[in-house]
Amino acid sequence: MAYDYDSENIFAKILRGEIPNDTVMETDHCLAFRDIAPQAPVHVLVIPKGAYVNFDHFGSEASDAELVDFNRTVAKIANEIGAAPGNGGEGYRLIVNTGAHGVQDVPHFHMHLLGGRRLGRMLSL
Ligand code: 5GP
Repeated sequence: MAYDYDSENIFAKILRGEIPNDTVMETDHCLAFRDIAPQAPVHVLVIPKGAYVNFDHFGSEASDAELVDFNRTVAKIANEIGAAPGNGGEGYRLIVNTGAHGVQDVPHFHMHLLGGRRLGRMLSL
């Protein structure tokens, strides 16, 4: 796996506290904060604290503890914002843009959690 992590990317700066963020949740291994340009009433970004470029980098090289923590954090946020259907919420969408075809802008792995309104079809074809 050959990924060069750019430690000057905007999310690395957020993790170092060089740029402010609107934190939703923080754990040992990840940080969740509101997107600066929300695409829906709820738009949260969840990122690992580790230096991973994208999903496959994270999925391949992260420790079990990091992988579990990330998934649990996403689920906790879905519950806490009242979006999880299991708790009577109306649902949400998770998006992970990856690389050029996925139109990923920030080269630090992140998951978008969107909700608060009906989001329409997954892709406009
Ligand atoms: P991508 O296109 O890489 O999947 O998503 C990057 C996301 O990061 C975009 O939704 C964009 O609005 C968000 N973003 C970019 N810069 C900042 C920032 O400085 N703060 C926050 N909170 N979000 C940012």
